[in-house]
Amino acid sequence: MILTRISKYIQDNGIKAYKYHTWRDLEDEDGNKKGELRVLVLDDGIAHAEYQCPNCKHETMIEQLWKRPFNVKCEKCGQLIRVSKLKDQVKKKK
Ligand SMILES: [Zn+2]
Repeated sequence: MILTRISKYIQDNGIKAYKYHTWRDLEDEDGNKKGELRVLVLDDGIAHAEYQCPNCKHETMIEQLWKRPFNVKCEKCGQLIRVSKLKDQVKKKK
C-alpha cells in the first residue's frame, strides 16, 4: 500500500466516524497490480478519494460528492476508475 494522503487527513482532522471506507489494489485482467484506490466518505457525504492511476501512475487525492456507482477520473490522463466494478473483480476471485 503506497497511498498516504488519506491516512494523514484522518490523523490531522481526528476523524473517528465515517460512512464508508474502502482501500483496494487496482489490477489488470491478469491480476497484476497497476495502481491503488482508497475512498473515505465522511458523514457530510463528501468522498475523499486517493488513487494511484493504473494507467499513468499519477498519485493524488480529490474530493467529490459521494454517489453510487462511484467513479474517479484521473486528473492527468482521464482514465476512469470505478469502485463498483472493482468490487465484482474481488468477488470473482473467491
Ligand atoms: Zn492517469
